[in-house]
Amino acid sequence: PSPAASRVDLDGNPVAPLTICMIGAGGFIGSHLCEKLMAETSHVVLAVDVYCDKIRHLVDPAPPHLAGRISFHRLNIKNDSRLEGLIKMADLTINLAAICTPADYNTRPLDTIYSNFIDALPVVKYCSENNKRLIHFSTCEVYGKTIGSFLPKDHPLRKEPEFYVLKEDESPCIFGPIVKQRWSYACAKQLIERLVFAEGAENGLEFTIVRPFNWIGPRMDFIPGVDGPSEGVPRVLACFSNNLLRREPLKLVDGGESQRTFVYIKDAIEAVLLMIENPARANGHIFNVGNPNNEVTVRELAEMMTEVYANVSGEPPLDEPMIDVSSNQFYGEGYDDSDKRIPDMTIINRQLGWNPKTPLKDLLETTLTYQHKTYKEAVKRQMSQASAS
Ligand code: NAD
Ligand code: UDP
Repeated sequence: PSPAASRVDLDGNPVAPLTICMIGAGGFIGSHLCEKLMAETSHVVLAVDVYCDKIRHLVDPAPPHLAGRISFHRLNIKNDSRLEGLIKMADLTINLAAICTPADYNTRPLDTIYSNFIDALPVVKYCSENNKRLIHFSTCEVYGKTIGSFLPKDHPLRKEPEFYVLKEDESPCIFGPIVKQRWSYACAKQLIERLVFAEGAENGLEFTIVRPFNWIGPRMDFIPGVDGPSEGVPRVLACFSNNLLRREPLKLVDGGESQRTFVYIKDAIEAVLLMIENPARANGHIFNVGNPNNEVTVRELAEMMTEVYANVSGEPPLDEPMIDVSSNQFYGEGYDDSDKRIPDMTIINRQLGWNPKTPLKDLLETTLTYQHKTYKEAVKRQMSQASAS
């Protein structure tokens, strides 16, 4: 038998092959999860998305050794009656579909709220009504700002973990005022979490909620003007990659003082696989998934990426590798920011024994090698076409 056929869960029981309805399977996280499931398990994936560029190698057409294991269903969950049938056909639904780039939260707040709350409602309802398990992707942004951020800048309590460590079942959710439309995403995600949780409490829905803390790696977002709109603003990894590929300075929003913890996508996907295969340990829980050891300010991230990219590409850094921009210039009105994001790892550790492994330097090396190989020539071509016209 193949290794996939002999999988066991954390309690030593054999894992039966599952059919998984994965919504948003064509995105960054979905593409890595599909690859992992195809390579290491015998589960079947019904991959749902409006586009499939990032999983084309798995579905268009499926390579012979994956025949019957993965199928692509091009549909928009906003308005497609096929969705319920797919959820009914599956044992487990994983919902990844969302608008989840900060540049959209203050400029397209309606789309953001509809995508993250309204469009997710039928998925929760169909799972609940048909007694199907649901793994719902939320975000670390539901924590909003840290308690410590309201203290004066040099206050000693800011250094105390209880003023910044984010705990699933204890920390409050602290958002800015309504005029700061940045929080439209966090608020929509919070309400859908509350709804999923309530379906569990009142109707017995078997659910797991995932709160990713800045998962990064190959295939994240897009490079503007190459495989995405030229005016588009992706998340920070792709923004900085784009700057490096074009040899322009990296833009630090409001001084680049915000702090983030970055986790390698492949580490994080291990955690999701553990949730999939250990329902008794994962059901009813909310899990932080991040790497508390990989904390940097955005400025430090820019410095590291500049150094790593110089090694990977053999091109020396610019004399002025970074410039400051205001958030108003970069994102427009209504932007606001999370100050610091350290995930508490107690629950995921206890329930699933999961720990992140890859240090930031290593994951940036792998990722920037991929970015350079994948995009350098295309960026060069696009830049010379733009200057010719
Ligand atoms: P992504 O944008 O790469 O993937 C989302 C996918 O959902 C896209 O392929 C998109 O086409 C699809 N989609 C959106 N609306 C749809 C609809 N109406 N019908 C069908 N498909 C639709 O984003 P990602 O980074 O892979 O994130 C996946 C999930 O994880 C999201 O819910 C996001 O909020 C959450 N998340 C991710 C991170 C991270 O670090 N990457 C952090 C916090 C939260
Ligand atoms: N950021 C930046 N320059 C950029 C893109 C982003 O300084 O070109 C900052 C942004 O203001 C935020 C952090 O980087 O403080 C992370 O942004 P990202 O879009 O990745 O998502 P977030 O972690 O805020 O959800």
